[in-house]
Amino acid sequence: EEILKDEPKGDSAERAPIVTVMGHVDHGKTSILDAIRETKSLESEAGGITQHIGASRVVYNDNTIVFLDTPGHEAFTEMRARGAHVTDISILVVAADDGVMPQTVEAINHAKSADVPIIVAINKMDKPEANPDRVKQELTEHNLVSEEWGGDTICVPVSAISKDGIDELLEMVTLVSEMNELQAYPENTGKGTVIEAKLEKGRGPVATVLVEDGSLNVGDAVLCGNTFGNVRAMVSDIGKRINKATPVTPVEILGLEDIPNAGDTFQVVPDEKQARQIAEQKKEKEREEKLRKNQA
Ligand code: GDP
Repeated sequence: EEILKDEPKGDSAERAPIVTVMGHVDHGKTSILDAIRETKSLESEAGGITQHIGASRVVYNDNTIVFLDTPGHEAFTEMRARGAHVTDISILVVAADDGVMPQTVEAINHAKSADVPIIVAINKMDKPEANPDRVKQELTEHNLVSEEWGGDTICVPVSAISKDGIDELLEMVTLVSEMNELQAYPENTGKGTVIEAKLEKGRGPVATVLVEDGSLNVGDAVLCGNTFGNVRAMVSDIGKRINKATPVTPVEILGLEDIPNAGDTFQVVPDEKQARQIAEQKKEKEREEKLRKNQA
């Protein structure tokens, strides 16, 4: 939730979609993410090297797409538990030789309850046993009817190994993103969500955040979950030191007092003193709630 409301400043601009890859174990989530990164990584254009900070950008036909690196449901469960809504589009990976499995159904339910559009990637099409029609049939049992069958679920046959269909998949992501008209106000004060955070030797608390609206600058005072700080440095997903992060840039931020949780929101506040005050109030409130729960 937002602590300090501010009116949108300046003009809105289209922002990149944030995409999560989900599906049953071994259906190829990691392989698809790798295939996408190998071909479309931002690093080749910007001369950096991909860092594992929890999210990364790829460029397809001049469109930037932000992928959350944690395949599976973590991104949904952990973050949604904190009320965060960090995904705009979900790619549901279903192996063409295996079909809909329990974790496929779980993924469908996660996406549906978060009201996130699903694009189905029918993977492992290179296998002789691949049976995409069976996958589509099984999906109808979960109310996902493919476009070819008169429904509105986009299904893209792909192979993470041969990379066939990867371009089409990204094309569909861009299409759905455009339909959803994702906007941000780059001139606003920065806000977004924590993707992951840890304590690092010599660096202190390090949090990867997604700047979803406004801009985050080195030197900004931020409130981040129950903690706060002054942004001392920022490192992008391609390992570059940056001074300003606009929507939607994944960045590591240094300078927080403590380690926030994945799914926490962050926002820029006027000064560190105010950040400290609000953070302490939030901590106090949390303590009281815990006490009340224990007494009940
Ligand atoms: P995850 O658990 O969903 O992340 O699945 P992985 O990406 O780890 O893939 C599981 C296994 O399936 C690995 O052995 C991959 O090499 C294999 N695999 C993934 N995609 C494909 C594909 O398109 N074709 C074939 N033949 N194998 C694949």
